[in-house]
Amino acid sequence: ATPLAVVVGIGRAAERGLLVKNVEAVERALGARYVAFDKTGTLTVGAPRVVKYVGDEWALSLAASAEAKSAHPIAAAVVKFAAERGVAVAEPDMFDTFPGQGVYARVNGAVVGVGNEKLVEGLGAELPLEIRREAEAYRAEGYTVAYVVVDGVVRGYLVVGDEVRPEAGRILQRLREMGLEPVIVSGDHVAAVAKVAERLGVKRYFGGKTPEEKAEVVKELKKEGGVIFIGDGVNDAPALATADVGIAVATGTEVAKEAGDVVVRKGDLAKVVEFLELSRKIVRNAR
Ligand code: ADP
Ligand code: MG
Repeated sequence: ATPLAVVVGIGRAAERGLLVKNVEAVERALGARYVAFDKTGTLTVGAPRVVKYVGDEWALSLAASAEAKSAHPIAAAVVKFAAERGVAVAEPDMFDTFPGQGVYARVNGAVVGVGNEKLVEGLGAELPLEIRREAEAYRAEGYTVAYVVVDGVVRGYLVVGDEVRPEAGRILQRLREMGLEPVIVSGDHVAAVAKVAERLGVKRYFGGKTPEEKAEVVKELKKEGGVIFIGDGVNDAPALATADVGIAVATGTEVAKEAGDVVVRKGDLAKVVEFLELSRKIVRNAR
């Protein structure tokens, strides 16, 4: 590619909120076969709400205290829900996150964990069969369930709902027209992923993946063809780095510091299509 055409094209794109950090991504994007999407916050609005809570106020207060320290969309939903109910939140003595699983904190002398089965397992807590069944039913409806574990005992759970972005269907269709196959690679439970995949007509999807496992999926897909991965820069850094082209959906304000070859603003999924069109134009002009 001629440097001038590339520089001009990329400069104009940056003005429109499409930041190409790695010029080589333009060429590599053309050889791609798959566009792999993270789900939460990328294909979905990422502003989930708590639609139901089962448990007492004490467990909810501890859960919200822990989640107040997390940047995950689910955490924001839990904190908001507790606030709406007037439940008090305390400052944890200790806090840690387990990417793809949940959070863990010590609050008022109690050890609390909020997250999925992996987190419950990791804390050595037993998941009562009845709760597991109820969670299964919500998941089949496309909801995410976050369990609340206090001192090694499951004390309740939160049912969290997220909506598919209204423009997602149209964008995936456009990608198919461009000869690319959309895939979903998510940390969320496979049943919740399946629901979103079904709604969007996506045939290949993966659920229950940790950030490292997402990178493994990308590696496997790469054996079949070029892979573009789109996800949030924090959780999906390994997958973004493993893909032929990593497109980070910026959640923070420091867009340029995000991982990935390309950065688009959150909520601007159409920029992915724009990037592919730009890549084609640049390479076409240069040849
Ligand atoms: P996705 O790939 O869908 O964006 P993440 O990798 O961000 O999902 O998270 C995977 C799963 O881990 C979530 O669906 C949720 O079950 C759990 N999880 C992660 N962070 C939190 C948190 N702060 N609170 C509760 N659950 C969490
Ligand atoms: Mg995510």
